[in-house]
Amino acid sequence: MIAFTLAEVAQAVGGSMHDIPDPRVTVTGPVVIDSREVRPGALFAAFRGERVDGHDFAESALAAGAVAVLAARPVAGPSIVVDDVQAALGALARAVIERLGASVVALTGSAGKTSTKDLIAQLLEKIGPTVWPPGSFNNEIGLPLTALRADQDTRHLVLEMGARGIGHINYLTGLTPPRIGVVLNVGTAHIGEFGGREQIAQAKGELVEALPAAADGGIAVLNADDPLVRAMVSRTKARTVLFGESEDADVRAEDVRLDGSGRPVFTLRTPTGCAQVTLRLYGEHHVSNALAAAAVAGELGMPVSRIASALSEAGTLSRWRMEVVERPDGVTVVNDAYNANPDSMRAALRALVAMGEAARAKGGRTWAVLGEMAELGGESLAEHDAVGRLAVRLNVSKLVAVGGQAAAWLDMGAKNEGSWGEESVHVSDAETAIDLLRSEVRPGDVVLVKASRSVGLERVALALLDGA
Ligand code: ATP
Ligand code: MG
Repeated sequence: MIAFTLAEVAQAVGGSMHDIPDPRVTVTGPVVIDSREVRPGALFAAFRGERVDGHDFAESALAAGAVAVLAARPVAGPSIVVDDVQAALGALARAVIERLGASVVALTGSAGKTSTKDLIAQLLEKIGPTVWPPGSFNNEIGLPLTALRADQDTRHLVLEMGARGIGHINYLTGLTPPRIGVVLNVGTAHIGEFGGREQIAQAKGELVEALPAAADGGIAVLNADDPLVRAMVSRTKARTVLFGESEDADVRAEDVRLDGSGRPVFTLRTPTGCAQVTLRLYGEHHVSNALAAAAVAGELGMPVSRIASALSEAGTLSRWRMEVVERPDGVTVVNDAYNANPDSMRAALRALVAMGEAARAKGGRTWAVLGEMAELGGESLAEHDAVGRLAVRLNVSKLVAVGGQAAAWLDMGAKNEGSWGEESVHVSDAETAIDLLRSEVRPGDVVLVKASRSVGLERVALALLDGA
């Protein structure tokens, strides 16, 4: 973090200092909300959670070297007291950003934020010190905590912004005003809460509205293949850069195919040249994520040849997203249980089939162990039915639909599509699926495990890998 004196912190957050003999003492970071992460020089922000109250840990945070506690009430020891600790954390992030020389890159979208954030970080790291959040740290607490990790040396700060409603992104961009804003897609994630795709687009588009004008360096990186994202061109004063497979995209993927192991291969075409890319990430949905990352890196001065080589080296930094592990006995487990939506289900099934190609030649089979895609509202039945049918058309060997009603629709779709009988089964829960797979899966098989987050289907993948 950029060093701030306690007096500066108090001023930035509009708080009052208690029990602070010397306001010139500096906070050198980190700023943490978990007292176990305190190191000397830290600022401990005391949050009142549902089960625990951070104020109860103030003493141990100070004992571990925290310079002061950001708190809603005075504690025993140095504290800066504010009405609202969360708002104070945001105000402090904003003050840090104002002093920072780094370009702030913010991204949003219904799916792929974390994957793309990880790709952008792995590219930008090659051209300068880069800070980015672990996992999906994308809300009103995770975002400022990440921003507060940036320091004088930071050149690039990459931030994921999640939205569960209108005004959320607006709030986040107020804390950490981005110069470059990326919108990946407007899908169906959280559609139930939003009420419809138009509303989701409205909410995501707040990111491009917050960007500086083109003359001040603002850049909106938009998915040309998604009509609702493309339409955001009219909502921004920033310069726009389009990415996608569309003819008029500035950063384009051409000749996209999956290689023998299921990895996407394509020609990356940018305004400054083109190069071949073979992703290390499985599933063609990552092509779109890679293009977004390439567009950002290109705008920040990275040559296309370096972008292509860095993309070809970039791996997943976050768990359970198309994680491929081969067991010693030759069973391959593809753990994509982090989340699911109709697009990524289709992409994962296609990747499974491509990966299974070699296995099939030797008698191995492909298994799709799929659970519910949540939050689809009125489209749920049709979408599950379509995924079940696609599994048949792609010639997946076995479909195991896990869980309640939605999974039953998947199974039904598969059975209606062709002449499938036992190739498709519906089991009530993950434990039953585990028992079934343990007894049926044999060496050479490839097993994809995927469902929405709420299903927690990683249990199946982890059980299959247990002891491997
Ligand atoms: P969250 O809202 O949970 O933070 P996210 O937007 O950060 O999610 P990721 O964690 O990158 O997204 O990916 C979540 C899931 O979305 C992946 O498991 C994959 O199934 C799917 N996904 C990733 N990229 C795309 C994409 N470009 N299009 C459609 N689906 C995608
Ligand atoms: Mg995420």
